[in-house]
Amino acid sequence: MTISQQRDDIPDQSSTDFSATGMNQAPTSLLSLSVAPAQVLRGNQALEQSVDAIARLGKRPLVVGGDRTLASLTSKLKPVLEQQQLSYSSASYTPDCSEASLSALKEAAASHQADLIIGIGGGKALDTAKLLAYQCQLPIVTIPTSGATCAAWTALSNIYSDEGAFLYDVSLNHCPDLLILDYNLIQTAPQRTLIAGIGDALAKWYEASVSSGSSPVTLIIAAVQQARVLRDILFQKSADALKEPGSEAWREVVDATVLLAGVIGGLGGAQCRTVAAHAVHNGLTHLPSAHDALHGEKVAYGILVQLRLEEMLQGNQLAASARQQLLKFYSEIGLPQTLEDLGLGNITLAELRKAAEIACNPNSDIHRLPFEVVPDQLMAAMVSTTTPVEKSRSPLGLTVAVTDSQ
Ligand SMILES: [Zn+2]
Repeated sequence: MTISQQRDDIPDQSSTDFSATGMNQAPTSLLSLSVAPAQVLRGNQALEQSVDAIARLGKRPLVVGGDRTLASLTSKLKPVLEQQQLSYSSASYTPDCSEASLSALKEAAASHQADLIIGIGGGKALDTAKLLAYQCQLPIVTIPTSGATCAAWTALSNIYSDEGAFLYDVSLNHCPDLLILDYNLIQTAPQRTLIAGIGDALAKWYEASVSSGSSPVTLIIAAVQQARVLRDILFQKSADALKEPGSEAWREVVDATVLLAGVIGGLGGAQCRTVAAHAVHNGLTHLPSAHDALHGEKVAYGILVQLRLEEMLQGNQLAASARQQLLKFYSEIGLPQTLEDLGLGNITLAELRKAAEIACNPNSDIHRLPFEVVPDQLMAAMVSTTTPVEKSRSPLGLTVAVTDSQ
């Protein structure tokens, strides 16, 4: 598969300043890692078979999810919880994984005298439930209902405004106590959610190789290499998986997006950070018209923007060919390639600038790129994600070899 044979070398970024990522720490400094959930139960009908494991963690669970998930899952989750005489209550995280929702949920947890939080749903429902459990110092069970993110695995929550604009992320002190990956449940989600999950998981390689590709740290090297393995699995199996939901290839791709993507975040820890793809996502969340696009769809588009920046500002030919390969892969599986594909074909120049300025704010992970980026340059990259690869030419019009400094 030619697509997976490119960009396999770890970029040399010895000139990059890693001080902000803590890479210059003395080797004896204390390392705190949350690598994985304490237990993962995975399989067909996994939810029905998890009742004992849930009951070991608490007797009075508060189930946190979105309105629709809670309504449709009552029939499925209720018998599971009642089997062990668990006294449960449920609460919605709507309107978003926001500070207002969290304070309402804290009251719900207190009034139910909850001793366990169960998060069920997509990334935002799980992020809310994890942060609620952390704040209430209660154990947490995550039950993903789609393959759209690795939120069921990670010790991280993203906080948004009530309107859905990304605000900041919070590191939690451990990964969930129990993750239940029920393939039957995941299979009921729209296909589009798994496609988005593939986009989010692919970003691990394109971002980790830039932020941490030259790290000498054993666990970071391991995380970056796992990100490459993850990318290759997705390149090889995604098209088959999407053709036949429930098949072996489909299950492997679900494992890749929900579990292996989480392993990389866990192993890499705070040093193995996101770069421009997620920064572009974060900027786009501030445009109301971007709210219909899923997290992983915006991130997938953000990967193309990141590669375009490397191409435009660094003359990086490797990035140019990686972008062409991704465009081919995206059209095979249906990931968005342009602002138009994200439903943003009619945004104004002012809106584009706003998203670019937020993505370039001083604390943004976009500044982990090994060169400076300003909003004008980012805007140019955002509108040219599908442009054909330009050949570098000398002033005389001769093609020159570009030395790859990355
Ligand atoms: Zn993501």
